[in-house]
Amino acid sequence: MNEQLLRDNVESTRERIALAAERSGRSIDDVEVLPITKGHAPEVVLAVARQGFTAIGENRVAEAETKLAALGRLGLRWHMVGHLQRNKAAAAVAAFDVIESVDSIRLGKRLQLEAERSASGGVAILVQVNAGGEGQKSGFASTELVEAVGELRELNRVNVLGLMTMAPLTSDERVLRHTFELARRCLERCRNELAGFHGRVLSMGMSNDFEIAVEEGSTEVRLGTVLLGERPEGL
Ligand SMILES: *Cc1c(COP(=O)(O)O)cnc(C)c1O
Repeated sequence: MNEQLLRDNVESTRERIALAAERSGRSIDDVEVLPITKGHAPEVVLAVARQGFTAIGENRVAEAETKLAALGRLGLRWHMVGHLQRNKAAAAVAAFDVIESVDSIRLGKRLQLEAERSASGGVAILVQVNAGGEGQKSGFASTELVEAVGELRELNRVNVLGLMTMAPLTSDERVLRHTFELARRCLERCRNELAGFHGRVLSMGMSNDFEIAVEEGSTEVRLGTVLLGERPEGL
């Protein structure tokens, strides 16, 4: 990884986030950049850590385990952003600090069980909402989201920090905006309707749509390509 190029990419991306935040009357301090290192070599995680990032995202348990074995945790928070199968829940609880892709009650219950079994005090999650309403995407429908978050909150080892969504793969700005706005409303509804729920994290926006996501209230943009270039393995 060319560290100068990475530095330049980080800087230009932060400028774009700052402008998007300004357009919507938000502060750039309210938007965290989560570099997504999937498909890149372990050294890339190291380069990202050297830039001062405090968290990274991976989308496969096995790939994260390989990197953790090579690097250790590097003082980073490791986020799982890909679909998680229940039979990988134990490994995921061990490898990750935050699991952003909780898309079923059954998975939440399995994470609770694995957190109880392991020494870890608990597991922090985001609940995935299929805000674009796409048939093939994981996540709860927006209409079932509040109830799902309510159920997941009853699991005492599972700490719901907020929501995650992936927008449809489109350049249609109206579709993207609508999707992100719906996710934000879902989080607001959770806060209004679920007593004692104060989750604030809204993980949305990727390389092709992060500025719109920031304008619509994202607190965490998950960025791979725009920071790190194309993934060598084409993942
Ligand atoms: C790969 C991935 C990203 C980053 O994608 P880019 O388009 O490279 O920024 C973000 N979120 C999830 C869930 C991903 O799988």
